Amino acid sequence: MPMQRLDSSAADFNHRLQQLTAWEEELDLAVNDTVRQIIADIAARGDQALLEYTRRFDQLPAERVADLEVGPERLRQALAAVSAEHRAALEQAAGRIREYHQHQMQDSWQYHDAAGNLLGQQINALESAGVYVPGGKASYPSSVLMNTIPAKVAGVENIVMVVPSPAGKLNDLVLAAAAIAGVDRVFTIGGAQAVAALAYGTETIPAVDKIVGPGNIYVATAKRLVFGRVGIDMIAGPSEILVICDGSTDPDWVAMDLFSQAEHDENAQAILLCPDPAYLDAVAASIDKLLPQMERADIIRASLAARGALVLTRNLEEAVSISNRLAPEHLELSVADPEQLLPQVRHAGAIFMGPYTSESLGDYCAGPNHVLPTSRSARFFSPLGVYDFQKRSSLIMCSEQGVQQLGRVASVLARGESLTAHARSAEMRLEAPGDSAT
Ligand code: NAD
Repeated sequence: MPMQRLDSSAADFNHRLQQLTAWEEELDLAVNDTVRQIIADIAARGDQALLEYTRRFDQLPAERVADLEVGPERLRQALAAVSAEHRAALEQAAGRIREYHQHQMQDSWQYHDAAGNLLGQQINALESAGVYVPGGKASYPSSVLMNTIPAKVAGVENIVMVVPSPAGKLNDLVLAAAAIAGVDRVFTIGGAQAVAALAYGTETIPAVDKIVGPGNIYVATAKRLVFGRVGIDMIAGPSEILVICDGSTDPDWVAMDLFSQAEHDENAQAILLCPDPAYLDAVAASIDKLLPQMERADIIRASLAARGALVLTRNLEEAVSISNRLAPEHLELSVADPEQLLPQVRHAGAIFMGPYTSESLGDYCAGPNHVLPTSRSARFFSPLGVYDFQKRSSLIMCSEQGVQQLGRVASVLARGESLTAHARSAEMRLEAPGDSAT
C-alpha cells in the first residue's frame, strides 16, 4: 500500500506535512455560472422553474410542485415499512442526539448595572429552517437526524426538508428518519434549485431563514450564493480523521478507523500520528490485510495514497501539537490515558477519547453532532448545534436616573462623530420635560 510515511524529526517534515494537508476548495467557475442562473430563474419564475429543473436533473416529471410534497401519511407509511431493527436504531440514535443537544440550550440573561439600568440578552429560536438531505447517489438518514434535531430542540417551528428523488424513488429510511426527527414538511426536490427555492420561496415552497445540510458541489455553491439572504451552516470540505495512538490499541482497529473516513471519497484525509515506529509498521500491515475486504476498497486506496499518512512523532505531546496545527474534523485520542492529553488539544471538530471510541459511533448515535468543521476551520468553527438555530437580541432598559450618566457619555461621543441627532436624542433625556427647544 503506497501510503506516505513521515517523520517529524526529518528536516523537510513541515514542508511535506503542509503539502499533504493543503486543500484549496476549487471555485469551479462553470458550476458557479450554472448555479447562479438556476437561482435567478427560481427567484423569477418560482414553481414553474422548479418543476423544469426537477424534470431535467432528477428525471422526475410533475404537473405541480404540490405533487412533489411527501405528506404526513407517506412519512407514517415509511416508518411502518422499515425493519423493526432499523426503526429501533433510528429511534435510539434520535433519542441520544436529542438528549445531547438539550445540554446546548442557551438561556436569556439580564443584569442591572450600578446606575440601575437593565442590560441583557434575549435568546429566540429561528422561525424556520431548511434541511438539505443529499439524495443524488446515496441516502443519508443520519444526516436527517443530525441536521433536524438541533433545530427542533432550539424550538424552530417550521422545518422544511428537501431531498432529491431521482426518477421519483423515495428512500424509506430517510423518510422514517424525517418522521422521527419531527420534520414539518418534506419535498422531493434537490440541487441548486431546491436551495434557491428555500432561500427565495416559491408559490409552494416556503422561504426559510436558514439552510443547513451537506450536498454536492451544486448544493454547496448554491448555499454560498444565497448566504446573506438566508443563514447557512457551513461549507463542508472533504472528510478528515487524525488518530493519535500510543501504540496500545489493536492496529486493526486503527486501520479500520482510518478507512472509515477514507471511504467517503478520494479526497478524504486519514492520518495516524504515533511515537512508536514498530506500531506504524503494524498498522501498515493491518491496512494491507484489511483493505481487500472492503466494499469501497478503490476509494479507500485512492484516498490513503493521495492524502493519507503514517507519521512518526517524537512523543505524544508533539503529536497533539501537530494535530492542533491541522485542526482536524475528527480527532481520535487512541491512547490509554486520553484525559491526560485532552487539556493540550486546542483545535478539533470532535474528539474521540480512548481506544473504544471509534469515530463512527459519533457519526451515527453517540449523541454529538456529526456536522463538523473541515479544512482547518475547527480553528474558528464549532460543530452544528442548537446555538446555530438560536439567535440573540440585546436588551437595554434605562431608568430615569440611569440615563443621566449614559446620556452624557453618548452625547460626547456622538458630537465627536458629528451626529447631532444622536447627540440631541441622548441629551433631551437629560433635560427637564418639555425643555427641548434646540
Ligand atoms: P445531492 O443531493 O447533493 O445532489 C443531487 C443534485 O445535484 C441533483 O438533484 C441535481 O439537481 C444536482 N445536479 C447534479 N448534476 C447536475 C448538473 N450537471 N447541473 C446542475 N445540477 C446538477 O446528492 P449527491 O450528488 O449524491 O451528493 C451528495 C454529497 O453530499 C456527496 O458529495 C457526499 O460526500 C456529501 N455528503 C456529505 C456529508 C457530510 O456530513 N459532510 C454527509 C452526507 C453526504
